[in-house]
Amino acid sequence: MNKTVLITGSTSGIGLGIAHQFAKEGYNIMFHGLEANGLDIAKKVGDKYKVKVAFSNANLLESTAVENLVQETIRSFGTLHVLVNNAGIQFVSPIEEFPNSKYEAIIALNMNAVFYASKAVWKQMKEQQFGRIINVSSVHGLRASEFKSAYVAAKHGVIGLTKVLALEGAPFNITCNAICPGYVKTPLVEGQIKDQALAHHMTEDEVVEKVMLKKQAVKQFVPLEAIADMALLLAKDSSTTITGTSFVLDGGWSAQ
Ligand code: NAD
Repeated sequence: MNKTVLITGSTSGIGLGIAHQFAKEGYNIMFHGLEANGLDIAKKVGDKYKVKVAFSNANLLESTAVENLVQETIRSFGTLHVLVNNAGIQFVSPIEEFPNSKYEAIIALNMNAVFYASKAVWKQMKEQQFGRIINVSSVHGLRASEFKSAYVAAKHGVIGLTKVLALEGAPFNITCNAICPGYVKTPLVEGQIKDQALAHHMTEDEVVEKVMLKKQAVKQFVPLEAIADMALLLAKDSSTTITGTSFVLDGGWSAQ
């Protein structure tokens, strides 16, 4: 039987990279994201790898939307084996000017939705004595950068939550781990490159070299495939003792 994975935010960037790798391995995929062409993206991947797909564009800022997304996945596929909590947003501002609404949205999506989705999959995973929860945190779950108060708080929170779920899931073969990437070239980062080039009066190449990759020892963006391969490993049956930990793919950033 093909296993089923729900990947939040899988119609763009890291989530889409993870979806490709899981589809290649024969997983059925619940796609999710706000991109207008989300359904087409899902169908293309389904056709390419001959796996079953469905798509939802639920806005995950509300707890009920997160719960409904999980229930819709279980209804569509009859089961759910792997949950990848990946959807996330960013906003950069000094704390004095940080809009409360942006802070609240980042905490809601990047952290609270991880709690609500994990809570909602629990019954199914417990009953089937198999579950893999993979949280896409960030190197900012372990390290801080100025002007990213909401993001850093949310990503640190996700790592704490990951540890608790690992402990609670252990008796039921439910594992929970976090992946902590450094910079990955996705739409989320491409937006930041443009904004920072304007703010610092630099070219986009200078922003990449002098601002973004400054803290990474390996002066490259983290490839999508590396993150997807890590997620695939964590989802395996044989990964039952890998739990409660964070896998850091940050080009050496946090080694300093
Ligand atoms: P992205 O912008 O390419 O994709 C984000 C996804 O989240 C999209 O599918 C989008 O539709 C979805 N999303 C946004 N707002 C939503 C909402 N309100 N409700 C539901 N879905 C929503 O970003 P990405 O770079 O692929 O980021 C994916 C994850 O990886 C995020 O959690 C991000 O914090 C994390 N991350 C990214 C990087 C990086 O450098 N790109 C580094 C570390 C961690």
